[in-house]
Amino acid sequence: MFRATLLTLFPAMFPGPLGQSLAGDALARGLWACETRDIREHGLGKHRAVDDTPAGGGFGMVMRADVLAASLDAAAAADDARPKLVMSPRGAPFTQRQAREWAAGPGLVILCPRFEGVDERVIAGRGLIEVSIGDYVLSGGEIAALAILDACVRLIPGVMGKEESGHEESFETGLLEYPQYTRPREWEGRAIPDILLSGDHAKIAKWRRAEAERITRERRPDLALDLPRP
Ligand code: SAH
Repeated sequence: MFRATLLTLFPAMFPGPLGQSLAGDALARGLWACETRDIREHGLGKHRAVDDTPAGGGFGMVMRADVLAASLDAAAAADDARPKLVMSPRGAPFTQRQAREWAAGPGLVILCPRFEGVDERVIAGRGLIEVSIGDYVLSGGEIAALAILDACVRLIPGVMGKEESGHEESFETGLLEYPQYTRPREWEGRAIPDILLSGDHAKIAKWRRAEAERITRERRPDLALDLPRP
């Protein structure tokens, strides 16, 4: 079973939105597990401190390596095969390919920092993989962890119906998705493209492919590099 262990100062944030809908149903059905660890339990002194001022001076606070290591060691035994991630804006960009790989594995241990981030030494000391969900700054790692888990959990076998999981989505094909329509046939003067109502499946597939290529070229030229010229 895919087991997620979240290390956080805010355990009440989990499973949060992942307790609802597709991921929530899967959680209830035992297709994955979501465990939280309060980093504060390993905090130091009367105030259970988890952070301190940055060496060399400067703004904000940094999470201590010793406290984080104690929390990680309590959460995952030495023989735990799960990748250990730390959420970080300077990490490797999270991708659909990465979600596929992790969803097929035993689960994830995810450290969710706050403040200015973590003491650099704990990253190497515990073999943490730094992962970013995009080029912007969140106030903590929790929402990033939820995004990563959401992308992984929906890919766990049995979570989605066979039909949906066989379907190729944005990024799986290297293309963004083609436009989708449903009833009514005409809405506020806008009609569904005739071809989609033609019943000609080969033509429809061709149209969708062409639309997916057009949209990918327009919106994400970085993804479209391998596409044939129109
Ligand atoms: N001072 C840091 C930002 C700290 S933001 C810097 O300049 O890089 C606080 C925490 O939020 C980070 O430690 C990280 O865990 C999380 N976080 C912020 N943005 C993120 C992103 N784009 N992806 C993943 N985690 C992020």
